[in-house]
Amino acid sequence: MLFGLLTAAIGFNVMHDGAHGSFSKEPKLNMLAAFTLDFLGASSFMWNTKHNVIHHAYTNIEGVDDDIEAGILLRMAPQQKRYGFHKYQYLYVWPLYGLLYIAWVFYTDYKKYFSSKVGNVPLKKLSVTDHFIFWSFKAFHFILYVVLPIYTVGFWPWLIGFLFYTSSSGIILSLVFQLAHVIEETSFPDPVQPANKIEDEWAIHQLKTTANFATKNKFITWWVGGLNFQIEHHLFPRVSHVHYPAISNIIKQTCADIGVPYIEHVDMRSAITSHLSHLKRMGEQ
Ligand SMILES: [Zn+2]
Repeated sequence: MLFGLLTAAIGFNVMHDGAHGSFSKEPKLNMLAAFTLDFLGASSFMWNTKHNVIHHAYTNIEGVDDDIEAGILLRMAPQQKRYGFHKYQYLYVWPLYGLLYIAWVFYTDYKKYFSSKVGNVPLKKLSVTDHFIFWSFKAFHFILYVVLPIYTVGFWPWLIGFLFYTSSSGIILSLVFQLAHVIEETSFPDPVQPANKIEDEWAIHQLKTTANFATKNKFITWWVGGLNFQIEHHLFPRVSHVHYPAISNIIKQTCADIGVPYIEHVDMRSAITSHLSHLKRMGEQ
């Protein structure tokens, strides 16, 4: 489990900043930091499109933002079709979150690769090097995390360990992303037709769809790589996360001055409660 929590911490602290170009002033170091994701089994190429291109520009927009797409199993946004079983989604969400990491490494990356799309958005064309990197890291990860452990400790001990490892990282990865966007207070705006444009200006849209949590908790801030300061991250994704606590005061004050929302939960517990009530409401409506 500790291994899983550390895996998530590498993703939050090193990979995420690297992919945004905010880990270092050196582009090469940023690239290396972003590649820690491939080392952990997921493709940094797919991440770039899913996260940097789509999620940051089209936050919480149903049909575009892949972060609010969980197939039919979860109804996260009001525009999504409701099924009877969604009534229980606030309960069965935990095992699903536990599967996120396994699904990401062994399924959704391949789905993006073979369909050349992230949801409805086409992927940038992969070069020969991109194809080579994708497959060699997938093979490397499979040997390091599956073949070698089975060879050394046997199938069942590996499977039990692997499930503990992947479910702890899956739950924490899901939670940090969900608490930032999928809670009662955030919105899921519809584009205005026929222009197919979002009414709010980009920064206002980010403020209405993004939330902070537990920003006074130094341990959480360190562990999740400042991603509890998602408002600051979404407004300034190319600024290193170590500066978020300092700039958050300025942003909060500015939001109060100009009368735009600054959505925040004081601790993780109230943010989780808000996330679960949102899921419950989405299941009932
Ligand atoms: Zn980001």
